[in-house]
Amino acid sequence: MLGATGSIGASALDVIARHPDRFRVALLSAHSRVDDLLALCRRHRPRHAVIADPAGYAALAAGLRDAGLACVPHAGPDALAALAAGVDCDTVIAAVVGAAGVPAVLAAAAAGKRLLLANKEAVVVAGDLLMQAVADSGAELLPIDSEHNAIFQCLPAPALGAAGRPGVRRLQLTASGGPFRGWSREALAAVTPAQACAHPNWSMGQKISVDSATLMNKGLEVIEAHWLFAAPPERIDVVVHPQSILHSLVDYEDGSSLAQLGLPDMRTALACGLAWPERIDAGVPMLSLADVGRLDFEPPDRAAFPCLDLAYRALRSGIAATTVLNAANEAAVSGFLQGKLAFLGIPQVVESCLARHAGDSAAGLAERLDLDQRVRRTATELVGRGHSNDSSGRMRHDG
Ligand code: NAD
Ligand code: MG
Repeated sequence: MLGATGSIGASALDVIARHPDRFRVALLSAHSRVDDLLALCRRHRPRHAVIADPAGYAALAAGLRDAGLACVPHAGPDALAALAAGVDCDTVIAAVVGAAGVPAVLAAAAAGKRLLLANKEAVVVAGDLLMQAVADSGAELLPIDSEHNAIFQCLPAPALGAAGRPGVRRLQLTASGGPFRGWSREALAAVTPAQACAHPNWSMGQKISVDSATLMNKGLEVIEAHWLFAAPPERIDVVVHPQSILHSLVDYEDGSSLAQLGLPDMRTALACGLAWPERIDAGVPMLSLADVGRLDFEPPDRAAFPCLDLAYRALRSGIAATTVLNAANEAAVSGFLQGKLAFLGIPQVVESCLARHAGDSAAGLAERLDLDQRVRRTATELVGRGHSNDSSGRMRHDG
């Protein structure tokens, strides 16, 4: 499990712990929180533990020793990718946040694992390389993002690439609309990180919570759907559905639309991926439509939330542009969470980076990751110019 200490990690470990007869944890990883990782190791007894930040290695090794655990400590991003491919396990759960997860996701795919993919940024940056690795190795890719898991369940098997086949007219991704659905641009100018992270339906990590508030999350998911299901951008649509009960649809040529429904709880998608094609208990209560009462739908407000169209634009430009979009967004969201950038500055930083890096190429993985780093520097510099109090949200730089 790559990214065990996060929100998806907790949901996955909850499902796994319900089925000790089926699943055993081979490896747990975290970024820098050694104490959280040690607590999970005591509970789930993996054979390997990885701390991505090398500064945490000594504390991890000492903690495992003091707890008397037969668990091998490792550190560093390279160890994570090597173990994602090399550890004796059937399934890799990719739950790291951000492009930092790319090498480990590609390594697991190349090693032919069953890959439960939550780490959507890895698809946005390396969807082409990922799908090629899956095809070459025979890896089994199972989408965990709830929308993509829904589409996976609604497409004919094999679902990967299926939207490119005849008979499928369109994929519709549902979006909750986030905490600021219905807000005007003026009202959005002053929102705080705490407000942005208070998602109405889902409890998630901070980065994806902010992405949900800007609608960049849906933009990243459009790009993710493009790669996973071979759907061209004009066949991927977004509809806002505030209750988050209907998790996405596939529209067929004959007028049929198939949707997957369920309570908003990521354990459903994780259990689906862990046991597929079987179905197992995820600890999620049964859906009662009578209790839900009503399902509402509306178009997204593309003017108030420009990140969605920035993502469509980047997707049409190509993989270098989506790499720029993602890196700029990661840096801008980080700046927003640190109080250095206004909420409306996030799309502005992304748009400026897309313009500045428009001619950059990113063919192979090394070039791609290099572009990612350069864009982060551009974005961090833009954030550092201090846009936190510009109520218009407009960038005041010269670019
Ligand atoms: P989170 O912030 O709660 O957890 C992230 C995990 O990744 C943590 O274990 C952290 O230690 C690890 N991590 C962070 N940076 C790392 C790095 N540089 N190297 C190695 N490990 C690192 O995030 P989350 O909400 O669990 O989301 C994880 C991924 O799943 C994201 O890509 C997100 O978009 C996607 N996702 C999450 C949800 C959800 O409900 N939380 C739903 C759909 C998709
Ligand atoms: Mg999603």
